[in-house]
Amino acid sequence: MRYLLLSDLHSNLEATLAVVDSARSEGFDQALVLGDLVGYGACPNEVVNVVRDLAPRAVIRGNHDKVVSGIDTGEDFNLVALQAALFNRKVLSRENRDYLSTLPRGPMSVGDRTLLAHGTPLDEDDYLVDRSDAERIFEESDFQVCFFGHTHIAGAFRSEAGKVSGLVPSKRISLLPLHPAGRYLVNPGSVGQPRDGDPRASFAIYDDGTRQVWIHRVEYSIRDAQERILAAGLPPGLAERLRRGI
Ligand code: ZN
Repeated sequence: MRYLLLSDLHSNLEATLAVVDSARSEGFDQALVLGDLVGYGACPNEVVNVVRDLAPRAVIRGNHDKVVSGIDTGEDFNLVALQAALFNRKVLSRENRDYLSTLPRGPMSVGDRTLLAHGTPLDEDDYLVDRSDAERIFEESDFQVCFFGHTHIAGAFRSEAGKVSGLVPSKRISLLPLHPAGRYLVNPGSVGQPRDGDPRASFAIYDDGTRQVWIHRVEYSIRDAQERILAAGLPPGLAERLRRGI
């Protein structure tokens, strides 16, 4: 089975469409979505509709999905994130709001020792950033492969023979083979607001038969996404960061 992994789409329609297009040409059977469909960008309904049309095998919620759908207040959000979340909440259709508010919390199991998480398998809102975070997660949680998002940084951590190493994808398509003796934490990166210095939209394909993960970067019209953000009256910094990939 070939899975498409999407995370942190953040109401960026142009990036979402470019990713789905590219993933279709690569070929996949089912989609797995790691949360944060909305927030930051200007097109929450359009992005939620694209995701729903994919009929994903699993979708878990992210922190922005909770705030935009109104099941969380966002009191821990910074002002810019909160402003965008409230705009997203205002324009979201009732149907999409119901959809987001009932998304399950991670971690979610999808097959043999494979997990999906937004933040980490221990806490949906926690950030898994560095190797010491990864070491703790490998120790305290049981899985062979866990896909996670939330940091908007594509990459992976591998635990093998008691050693944890970080893997940084550096190409347009980076292949990560999963060794039977290894355990893996894999972040497909952010579709709609990458923060690893590469402004291209990010996604992953996982083949559980050949046990390979490919992390892909795709160009999209950043300018169009920026114009929508500005036209919606959202903070200009949200448009600027798309160009810089931060
Ligand atoms: Zn996010």
